[in-house]
Amino acid sequence: MSKLIIVYHRQPYEEVLVDGKIERREPKSPNGIIPSLKSFFGNGNGGSWVAWTSTENATDDFERVVNITDSIGSYRVSRLQLTPEQVKSFYHVTSKEALWPILHSFKERYNYMPVDWSTFREVNWQFAQAAAAEADDGDIVWVHDYNLWLVPMYLRQLKPNVRIAFFHHTPFPSADMFNVLPWRKEIIESLLACDVVGFHIPRYGANFVGAAQSLLDVDVVEQRLVSEEMMSSGAALNDRRVPVRLSYHGHDITVACAPVGVDVNYIEALAKSDDTARTVAEIRETLGDCRLLLSVSRTDYTKGGAELLQSYERLLAAHPELHGKVRLMHVSVMANSSMAAYEQVQGEIEALAGRISGTYGSFDWQPVSLISTPVPFAELVAYYRAADVAWITPLADGMNLVCEEFVAARTDGDGVLVLSEFAGAAVVLSDAVLTNPFSHRAMDTALLHALDMPEEDRRRRMKNLRAAVAKFGVAHWAETQLASFDDFASSGTDRKLAG
Ligand code: UDP
Repeated sequence: MSKLIIVYHRQPYEEVLVDGKIERREPKSPNGIIPSLKSFFGNGNGGSWVAWTSTENATDDFERVVNITDSIGSYRVSRLQLTPEQVKSFYHVTSKEALWPILHSFKERYNYMPVDWSTFREVNWQFAQAAAAEADDGDIVWVHDYNLWLVPMYLRQLKPNVRIAFFHHTPFPSADMFNVLPWRKEIIESLLACDVVGFHIPRYGANFVGAAQSLLDVDVVEQRLVSEEMMSSGAALNDRRVPVRLSYHGHDITVACAPVGVDVNYIEALAKSDDTARTVAEIRETLGDCRLLLSVSRTDYTKGGAELLQSYERLLAAHPELHGKVRLMHVSVMANSSMAAYEQVQGEIEALAGRISGTYGSFDWQPVSLISTPVPFAELVAYYRAADVAWITPLADGMNLVCEEFVAARTDGDGVLVLSEFAGAAVVLSDAVLTNPFSHRAMDTALLHALDMPEEDRRRRMKNLRAAVAKFGVAHWAETQLASFDDFASSGTDRKLAG
């Protein structure tokens, strides 16, 4: 029986320092990507997880490999120790300042100067070594996200007969954007050393193939038509065809496109709980006659927080009848790292929220509440339930789970979702009010449309949205990924490194 080895930069538990000793705790909320990934260990075959930990918190009794038993079962965690300098260079500088802007098509934010590519290679090599130590021939090593782009190539050198899959949690840009990266060929060659390369939606898979074909002699062996369920009418990220199998130097690579979804059962149970009902009642009492607009994201230029506040400001200027009738709760959570790009966006958001309050607010009516510290998930679900409109308009977003959580929480069947057509989720959520965050008019009319929407229309759309979120839940993603592993399992594993 083959094992699964998951390679993800974060550890699958929280570490808490208690009386000078580190305690590992399973996160209370099963929400998010880590619990979804861990659930793959739930079949009784066990497995391993490879992650990094900082030497900064190291204690004398540091164990390189630990055995974990938690609600999902038993598995091993192999930890590589990185110095604070390595973490800064590999994660905060190369990944966030050079790779992240290009992945999201922000060429002007790309910062090459501070990048130390040799450290990026070195850290990826360490991840590959740790994964190789866990894997036997025929095992599946599943690598996650762009900061580990070089792991497949190194792993293939160390263990030619393991099966390698890679999943991108971000968008993948078109060739003319991706090729800004001077390391483009090295990255693509590494991805082509995989057996399966995964993306959220067909467009990202097609972009990857375009970038690969711009650099190397890669053939598309098979492509398929995209199902209607994954094409919102006229949405910017639609693609009609999706490449599913490539050939490069005599070996096949499967391209697997499936959106990561949410755990609908968990969110519904939370949404229906008595605690949530109590919190919703309190929120509504505070709101009085006002309707609640809700926007939730991390503080990041990709999330379009400033553009959303500018739209709100324009609407309040043009529609005095909205004064005293709407309130915007703008959750924009600041990252822990002190990155200049994020501090600048945070500053912009604070200035806009302050100006809107100063211009239109009164003692009785606060047009906007800006919240920059994380809202616990259970509380967020209460806000999802209390909101009249979820206003989610990123400029670029791999998927966006907040919009799906909002829909999953609306077991009452009401509420309107205004969603950017540049969020990956837009291809499956055709009944949202889709909008273009690069157009002032589209942004402003989308919100007015949401506020004016008759109840019957709201309920019809929410019913369809809920069906889509249920269909493309996290279980669907897990099944699709496992099916693509089976696919390459049957095609044999004895293959050589290309080139
Ligand atoms: N989130 C949260 N509290 C907050 C803000 C966000 O728990 O105050 C969670 C939210 O519920 C979602 C995740 O953070 O699960 C954000 O995921 P998404 O895919 O929308 O964006 P990402 O930050 O991964 O780009």
